[in-house]
This record gives sequence, C-alpha cells and structure tokens, in this order.
Amino acid sequence: MRRVVCPGSFDPVTNGHLDIIERAAGLYDEVVVAVLINITKHSLFTVDERIEMLREVTADYGNVRVDRFHGLLVDFCESHGISTVIKGLRAVSDFEYEMQMAQMNYRMAKVETLFMTTNPLYSFLSSSLVKEIAEYGGDVSGLVPEPVISRLRARLARS
Ligand code: ADP
Repeated sequence: MRRVVCPGSFDPVTNGHLDIIERAAGLYDEVVVAVLINITKHSLFTVDERIEMLREVTADYGNVRVDRFHGLLVDFCESHGISTVIKGLRAVSDFEYEMQMAQMNYRMAKVETLFMTTNPLYSFLSSSLVKEIAEYGGDVSGLVPEPVISRLRARLARS
C-alpha cells in the first residue's frame, strides 16, 4: 500500500491544508494526516479538537486517516510503515526551513519528502493569520471549512 503522511499543527485546519490533503489522496492509497503534539507551542485548539475538526472535514475521503504524533516525525513514519512525507509550499519563504527538515529526515531515516505547490487561491493563507483575523472579528469564510468557522466563533466568544 502506498501511504504518505501529511504532518502539521493544523491549529486549525484551513482550506489550504485541505487542498493539499485532497490532492495527496488522489495520488496515494492512504494519506495519514498527523497532528503534531507540541506542548511548548501555545495553541488555540487542543490536539483532540484539531483532530475532531480534521476528521469532520475529511470524512468524505475514504483514504484519509487522522492521527497524532509527538517527537520525531521519522519515528512516526517508521512505526506506521510510511516512507514519504508530503508538504505544501506556499512561497519561497517556506522553502529554506522545509528543505532543511527534508534533508535531515532523509539523513536520519531515508524518509523522502515531496513538495506540492499550493493552490494559488490559498498561497497567502496560514492558520495563524486566520486566528488573528477571527480574533478581531474579521470574516474568515472561504479560508477555512464551515465547521471550523463555528468552532472559531465559539472559542473566541469565550476568551
Ligand atoms: P501553518 O504554517 O499554517 O501553521 P501547519 O504547520 O499546520 O501550518 O502546516 C502543515 C503543512 O501544511 C505544511 O506543509 C504547510 O506548508 C502546509 N500548508 C499550510 N498552509 C498551507 C496553504 N495555505 N497552502 C498549502 N500548504 C499549506
């Protein structure tokens, strides 16, 4: 089975992430979306909430699975029988860091990284920008899936 992992924070999932996941699902037998558990990074949504949202918005894809990981991505890959990582590239600014990670992951465990260029509709889109806009009451429709909009509203109304 040709399996690929799509790792990230997904705090929260955006239409840019979804576009990459959907295109990867067309190329591979199975896509494992892996949510990074990073206790040092402040996040708006818990890992469980991020996973719930991802499961909801990928429910129509029969070959997408959502999981979590902490520590090294190469260890997650090894324990799940995955040898390829897929990442979305928005701009040249993403490239330097991503190239370093890709080369290190290959050096550590021969895990390959494939880059998919973002859909130009979403090249300016990031989870952090979405959170900032939503926090100040801006309109994020079209940037994140519908279930995420209601979650953002509920979360920000409470804070
Ligand atoms: P963010 O940088 O928004 O916090 P994540 O860490 O959750 O994103 O990103 C996970 C993966 O999704 C990364 O490979 C990142 O480059 C990719 N990605 C994020 N936003 C987009 C987008 N708008 N278009 C394409 N890929 C994206």
